[in-house]
Amino acid sequence: MAYSYEAPVSQSLFDRASVVTPGGVNSPVRAFRAVGGTPRFMVSGTGPYLTDADGREYVDLVCSWGPMILGHSHPEVIAAVQEAVSRGTSFGTPGEGEVALAEEIVARIEPVEQVRLVSSGTEATMSAIRLARGFTGRAKVVKFAGCYHGHVDALLAAAGSGVATFGLPDTPGVTGATAGDTVVLPYNDLDAVRAAFAAHPGEIACVITEASPGNMGVVPPADGFNAGLKELCAANGALYISDEVMTGFRTSKAGWYGVDGVRPDLMTFGKVMGGGFPAAAFGGRGDVMAHLAPAGPVYQAGTLSGNPIATAAGLAQLRLLDDAAYAKIDAVSAELRSLVGDALTKEGVAHTVSAASNMFSVFFTDQPLRDYEDAKKQDVFRFTAFFHSMLEQGVYLPPSAFESWFVSTAHDERAVERIAAALPAAARAASEATA
Ligand code: PLP
Repeated sequence: MAYSYEAPVSQSLFDRASVVTPGGVNSPVRAFRAVGGTPRFMVSGTGPYLTDADGREYVDLVCSWGPMILGHSHPEVIAAVQEAVSRGTSFGTPGEGEVALAEEIVARIEPVEQVRLVSSGTEATMSAIRLARGFTGRAKVVKFAGCYHGHVDALLAAAGSGVATFGLPDTPGVTGATAGDTVVLPYNDLDAVRAAFAAHPGEIACVITEASPGNMGVVPPADGFNAGLKELCAANGALYISDEVMTGFRTSKAGWYGVDGVRPDLMTFGKVMGGGFPAAAFGGRGDVMAHLAPAGPVYQAGTLSGNPIATAAGLAQLRLLDDAAYAKIDAVSAELRSLVGDALTKEGVAHTVSAASNMFSVFFTDQPLRDYEDAKKQDVFRFTAFFHSMLEQGVYLPPSAFESWFVSTAHDERAVERIAAALPAAARAASEATA
């Protein structure tokens, strides 16, 4: 596919990066391999806008893959960071900021009685499954195809996100022994979960699921699916782990738990709670968390865990996320969903705008979407054409058909108008695209 626009400064940065960094990026999906073209090197962000190294401005619908829920450079978050940084950047001791952030999480999410701070969502899920195994004395972990829980060895089987994008069923470097304790099941299929418990009696430590998946595109849980998982886990002595790294503090004040009210044994968080810095967490039942070192025998640690800058940013961001903020994000998301749907309908493009609260993605298919197999059946080539048309017109979408789109409180009328103005041409490009 030829692109009618260029990004020479980004291209030269990418060329430099490709010499010293594998594939030129530090996280695969950033490389634009699924859509082609030059990845944009961003230099600044303000509100709903990003500016790239070529000086072009984009309305940002990626929001750093979720964290920037107040938009970029929110003055109160920046002020909290500056204040924290003026006192030092890392102490390797306990500090009040991490206590305050933990208190905020515990106050917002009722099933979380205790929480441990870490530095990435990957660390959170890795530690949560170690704790589940240590607590239950069992080895096996059930996960769902298309759900991504970070690049934890045991969870990189039929994962979504970058792995979905590249269609890799698995990854070299994960040994058979590690993956051998992972049972991968189709999403939204409680019968498959029942059968797994029957096939492995007394062996399953936990079921981990995205609270509402966003990593195969947005494919929400069917009515009763999460509740069914919880019940099956309880009946079989396994822990139910809800991965809220993406949904946490985004889909409501209490994340997806605030939407469906199903009480997990353990939960994982990241993205929004770090305010754009590396902070993440796992937490849940007090009796389970008590097994974690130094209170208990399951080891877990981190040099930069609870970092004072990250906790200051996260706390400032969470404190600004009140009911009015969520109402605003929900309204912008609803408006964009209907604008995108209308534009594609007008051009006769088969599509589904799939939403879970304010998270949404656009699938280029009109067939039902219940699991990863369904998600993969979309016309990805239409997404590619749509993506490039939007990019050319100054709207930055996730560079993959298998990702959620994210909005923020900063997406105001002007930003929405700019997106609306770009949609007709992008919908036409999708309609005219060929495989
Ligand atoms: N879990 C979910 C649901 C995610 O969406 C992600 C990242 O996108 C992770 C875990 C991993 O988080 P991180 O990229 O911070 O390691």
